[in-house]
Amino acid sequence: MEVLAPTADQLARAAARLRAGEVVAIPTETVYGLAGAAFDERALARIFAAKDRPTFDPLIVHVLELDAPGVVGPLAPRQRAAAERLARAHWPGPLTLVLPRGPRVPDLATAGLPTVAVRSPRHPVARALVAAVGPLAAPSANRFGRISPTSAADVVAELGDRVELVVDGGPCAVGLESTIVAVGEDGELTLLRPGGVAVEARPGGPEVRAPGMLPSHYAPHKPLVFLGASAPAGRVALLAFDPATAARVAAVRTEVLGLDLEAAARRLFAALRALDACDADVIVAEPCPSRAGLGHAIADRLERAAHGK
Ligand code: AMP
Ligand code: MG
Repeated sequence: MEVLAPTADQLARAAARLRAGEVVAIPTETVYGLAGAAFDERALARIFAAKDRPTFDPLIVHVLELDAPGVVGPLAPRQRAAAERLARAHWPGPLTLVLPRGPRVPDLATAGLPTVAVRSPRHPVARALVAAVGPLAAPSANRFGRISPTSAADVVAELGDRVELVVDGGPCAVGLESTIVAVGEDGELTLLRPGGVAVEARPGGPEVRAPGMLPSHYAPHKPLVFLGASAPAGRVALLAFDPATAARVAAVRTEVLGLDLEAAARRLFAALRALDACDADVIVAEPCPSRAGLGHAIADRLERAAHGK
């Protein structure tokens, strides 16, 4: 895999590859994505193949604006008002809207659903490539079910033998995948995935999950358990939020995320990767100290990383 600097020349190279139906790994502010032209079925098939992603798991289509031709279908008046309000408040940024699908989006991008997931990314490299190529479908640039990459080096570790190019846009500013919200015909909102935009789940609302939201995801190779009363057997790699926790638990390697949840989110996946790679038998994670703000999304990722371990 070749790592490209985000210069005008190299972006032109990446854009040419995307226009030719190839895939290129690109930075976004959430995590690195494996991008392909959203309307090109060959490109979409290459995304699924490179990731070993099952085709029932739909992709997010990256646009510059809600009205990108052919992406989103006709909207009911209240649906349009709600979508425009959310886009005004959070775009460009880590919020994905699930809306009726437009005529140019192939089945492969939506897993055959009548809806499409759309997002306008904030990262200048992602925006430049969408401007040059058109809408880009891009799931996270990791093998299916594994930890999302938040740097170009992480992408090389995940897909280095399967994808030819990654554009290096530096470490991701948010570090968690986008929040996904479905916008219904009457403008009603359903949180499908907590993520980089802090939105509270409606209390008592229906527990709807996005397709592809499997219980085991973001999985390290080592087992991950939560810090509890009894110490697990074996050598421990510790993921702590509170520096005081790090000071009191003995571990082969410790990563301290800190108590500022935005900073913790930014470092979470890189810390998990480092702990997964170290000489320990088990990762022990301190539960996220809060569910407020980004705490909801961080706790969600840790629970999925622990699932079935
Ligand atoms: P990723 O890009 O890897 O973060 O995955 C994108 C996620 O978006 C999928 O796993 C789904 O959970 C969700 N998604 C994409 N399209 C739809 C849709 N039409 N309806 C509901 N959820 C969707
Ligand atoms: Mg993913």
